[in-house]
Amino acid sequence: MSSVRVDKIRRTYGKTLVLDDVSFTAPQGQVVALLGPSGSGKSTILRLIAGLEHVEGGDIHIGGERVSGAGLTVAPEARRVGMVFQDYSLFPHLTAGANVAFGLDKLGRADRDATALKWLDRVGLKHRANAYPHELSGGEQQRVALARALAPSPRAILLDEPFSGLDAVLRAELRDATLATLAEAKTTTLFVTHDAEDALQAADRLVILKSGRVLQEAAPRDAYDHPASLDAAAALGPINVYKSAVANGVVATPFGNVNASQLANGAAANVAVRAEALMLAPGSGARVIAVRPHGAHDLVRIEAQGIVWRALAPARSALGETVSVTIQPAGAFAFSG
Ligand code: ADP
Ligand code: MG
Repeated sequence: MSSVRVDKIRRTYGKTLVLDDVSFTAPQGQVVALLGPSGSGKSTILRLIAGLEHVEGGDIHIGGERVSGAGLTVAPEARRVGMVFQDYSLFPHLTAGANVAFGLDKLGRADRDATALKWLDRVGLKHRANAYPHELSGGEQQRVALARALAPSPRAILLDEPFSGLDAVLRAELRDATLATLAEAKTTTLFVTHDAEDALQAADRLVILKSGRVLQEAAPRDAYDHPASLDAAAALGPINVYKSAVANGVVATPFGNVNASQLANGAAANVAVRAEALMLAPGSGARVIAVRPHGAHDLVRIEAQGIVWRALAPARSALGETVSVTIQPAGAFAFSG
């Protein structure tokens, strides 16, 4: 149990700056999601925390101990950090039990086996201890990898897109089971994902990344309700962007005013409106030009005054109908343009 603190880390590959002064904290015992598109530097951050590579600037502390910094790279095995990769990386020639026991070389044989079984039990796979990786499903392999990472009681655990390879139903189930196991173990957890829903549902804290920079670090609810920028708003779900100027503390849109009191009158503004903040009702003003099912909702394209907007609305819109549209204030944000 330890916090992980990353302070202004930098990393280049060749001439490309991959991490540009990245800072965030994973408080002890919490689950922190690193959310960002492919190529934003998420895996690189995990490799630096694990000590698999050195930082070119900045520091990393684990449990208050400086493990990376100028001229310092504490060896991975001395960091006591567990890792689970997307492809699980189980040893194919070892049983599930032997995979979990692998990192427990400081214990005697009997203790090793007992500890491995205890962790397999925690992930619900005690009965599969003698199975080889190729005899296990993807979800089961992922759980063995999690047990293997947790068995040596690491100070923190790093998960790199652990649910990406799984189908949607299994994915949600496994995500919730994994997080329950981690919460029980009270292990500081950093998990990498490009999926906003995973991050919002599973994390105590979000670090939103883009192009090697932190856009926002906040609790999921705060990041969703108070995005720091247009990009940070877009990272958590589909948005509409409307460009206009501030007048009398608001930006006027075809669907009503959006508060912009923090911006100067006359300033150019970009308004972000979450798709789910557009409320459709029978009426006039906009026309439905496309409807696509999206779970319990529809992803609806509506057109008003020559502009197309995306709305996530309860599934009852019909193609071609006219609707009146209002904006829920909690899902609309004005930024300086
Ligand atoms: P993510 O995990 O968010 O997809 P990565 O950390 O894997 O992002 O990569 C960030 C950027 O660094 C990408 O542009 C990638 O091409 C580059 N990169 C990652 N690892 C290496 C490497 N070993 N050598 C050169 N470039 C790399
Ligand atoms: Mg990656």
